Amino acid sequence: MSVRFNEPFMAGREMEYLAEVCRGRHFGGNGPFTRRAQALLQDRFGVPHVLLTHSATAALEMAALLLDTGPGDEVILPSYTFVSTASAFLRTGATLVFCEVDAATMNIDPADVERRITDRTRVIVPIHYAGWGADMAAIDAIAAPRGITVVEDAAQGVDARLDGRWLGTLSPLAAISFHETKNLHCGLGGALFVNDPAYFERAEDIWERGTNRTKQFRGLVDKYSWVELGSSFYPSELQAAFLLAQLEAMDRNTSERRALCERYDAGLRPLAARGLLALPRTTPGHTHNHHAVFVLFPSDQASDHVRRTLLADDIHAFIGYVPLHSSRMGQRLGWKAEDLPVTEEMAGRVLRLPLHNQMTMDDVDRVVAAVERAAANA
Ligand SMILES: *Cc1c(COP(=O)(O)O)cnc(C)c1O
Repeated sequence: MSVRFNEPFMAGREMEYLAEVCRGRHFGGNGPFTRRAQALLQDRFGVPHVLLTHSATAALEMAALLLDTGPGDEVILPSYTFVSTASAFLRTGATLVFCEVDAATMNIDPADVERRITDRTRVIVPIHYAGWGADMAAIDAIAAPRGITVVEDAAQGVDARLDGRWLGTLSPLAAISFHETKNLHCGLGGALFVNDPAYFERAEDIWERGTNRTKQFRGLVDKYSWVELGSSFYPSELQAAFLLAQLEAMDRNTSERRALCERYDAGLRPLAARGLLALPRTTPGHTHNHHAVFVLFPSDQASDHVRRTLLADDIHAFIGYVPLHSSRMGQRLGWKAEDLPVTEEMAGRVLRLPLHNQMTMDDVDRVVAAVERAAANA
């Protein structure tokens, strides 16, 4: 019996809401289900304005447009992230400045960020890896006095907290993902959290293909027209309806995942005590959304050996990210692997273990036992 790495979550009411869209005949987006999903997110997380997008990629691209980054501007981001964190800013002509992760958390290393600040630094983009909050207080302490804007790539961070504050609300603009590999999803989807209301007017126009059409709906303008450089950033009502069903099941989703993660934790701790692997250190004050389980092996060979051994047993574990700075595209931008030695080393040592709501406790036990056997022989 195989243990899949991910199985997309199903909440239960998706079909009912999709049928409602078909009856209502509003398919194109920015309709009743979009507004309901946005309102749910605003209420739950205390965000002044939420705009649903078709992906976190789109939300990051909106953030880059809102911040008007361009040639001559520098954007600091971890190399250890998903490609969209980088491409959203690169496409505006800004220069990417990759930084290291903290080896114990795999999140952005504030000390290395500080070393890379110049008078051209405009934006810092931390991600919350595996749903573990990045050290936002340290990043803010670097950014705020210099007038640098922080954008959270909170793609993996929905429903997690840092010192009681929700991830995705800790910076003026934050990107959320509702891709099927995330805790909650609508196939492809995302959201921009506009935590600084000063950005909202423009955000709404950029979202609506660069027009003020939404303001026409609200009776604020008579005829809508082109007012900004925008794009088609929002999802259809079909996606929004599916997403609303998922959002309504958020507590159940998180608590099911919590039970699985606690089982993992109990199983993996003894292996860590024996030195077979290390568990990541968490940022103090963090409450997890249980997005992902990952472990750190002593070497990339050990990690590779465990991954292949598990696969032979039909257990699907995955590496984390291939660092961006040493990717083919990163090299074209002038980066070399040795520029970020910690990232280069740690990326090879990470292994992400299966986690999804259809897993059973027995599945977790089976994965832990397989990891133990493989790691002992690595
Ligand atoms: C998943 C993810 C993204 C991309 O999300 P999409 O919704 O697929 O565009 C971006 N950044 C991080 C950190 C992610 O995990």
